[in-house]
Amino acid sequence: MNNESAKVINQTEKYGAKNYHPLPIVISKAEGIWVEDPEGNTYLDMLSAYSAVNQGHRHPKIIQALKSQADRVTLTSRAFHNDQLGPWYEKIAQITKKDMALPMNTGAEAVETAIKAVRRWGYQVKGIPDNQAEIIACVGNFHGRTMTAVSLSSDEEYRKGFGPMLPGIKLIPYGDIEALKSAITPQTAGFLIEPIQGEAGILLPPKGFLKEAYDLCKANQVLFVADEIQAGLGRSGKMFACDWEDVIPDMYILGKALGGGVFPISCVVANRDILGVFNPGSHGSTFGGNPLACAVSIASLEVIEEENLVERSLKLGEYFVERLKQIKNPIIKDIRGRGLFIGVELTEAARPYCERLKENGLLCKETHDTVIRFAPPLVITETELDWAMERIKRVLS
Ligand code: PLP
Repeated sequence: MNNESAKVINQTEKYGAKNYHPLPIVISKAEGIWVEDPEGNTYLDMLSAYSAVNQGHRHPKIIQALKSQADRVTLTSRAFHNDQLGPWYEKIAQITKKDMALPMNTGAEAVETAIKAVRRWGYQVKGIPDNQAEIIACVGNFHGRTMTAVSLSSDEEYRKGFGPMLPGIKLIPYGDIEALKSAITPQTAGFLIEPIQGEAGILLPPKGFLKEAYDLCKANQVLFVADEIQAGLGRSGKMFACDWEDVIPDMYILGKALGGGVFPISCVVANRDILGVFNPGSHGSTFGGNPLACAVSIASLEVIEEENLVERSLKLGEYFVERLKQIKNPIIKDIRGRGLFIGVELTEAARPYCERLKENGLLCKETHDTVIRFAPPLVITETELDWAMERIKRVLS
């Protein structure tokens, strides 16, 4: 290859830290579900930037919000109020039916925020003795890459060489109610869970687990905290993946599609008795709650509502899984998911298949070696899914 793409890939290889292993494709333009490389080849995006682009690339309404806000004011810091933050708080409260939110920028920062809130709540409200608060998380979790997030992780690859880890964390097997029961002690402040484990390979907990775990938490005065950064905001075919079991967690952690793939914004959302533990000076972020992010986020949430992306995800997800199940090949071990959040587990490495899908015009990324994740923007149409299915059949049959 001796073209613009090759040049960019060489620069990346030469000057970039090697903390990623991307497929060899450079994206220089995108619109809706389509992306394009500098040579003009187009691909259907089946990853949606790990579900950050649920609304489709460069959604016109979101881009308009970005542009008009950029012409007014972009950053004030929280030393002052800005005129987008209030409306954003109100919008989040309306969507989550919770009292209040705390905005940050990336998903991992929101997880950090959640852990701080849970610990402080543990001391101030539950009365756990100082420095003894415990948090229970799940094996296979992915909550990001900061020290707190890797301390929560069970994946040696994510932790190796980064110790010492944050203390006060216990892990239970994902979906194991008995293990949760035995892990809870009077020092337990919170239980942190992805209602669908994304990075682990689109894993669903056993039916009824979320509800049982929530009830168990309630009975033991433990906060049930849902990391909906990837599974939330329509991806799973419900507004929140916890809705699948009618669970309203004590705290939501949101990110990714909250900014429509246009501008980073994340947050934690909870009622006053929990988020009220923060006081001035206890937490913050220079960029958290900035007017550009808030304007983009309001538009991003409105797009989800106005274009019925939640219902679309549910309907098209069922259609897509149905079609996937018609592919007969012994290398397909499992097909699972909810809405347009679908994992196809193979009996062998998924990477070569992702490479062949790319050659056929579909961008997918393997997760945990043997799983191909299909998570297109939720604005995709049935005809476009059929187009994708033709290619998938070609590669997987
Ligand atoms: N939590 C979940 C469930 C995620 O899927 C991710 C990212 O993939 C994160 C947290 C971390 O988000 P970020 O990469 O924005 O820090």
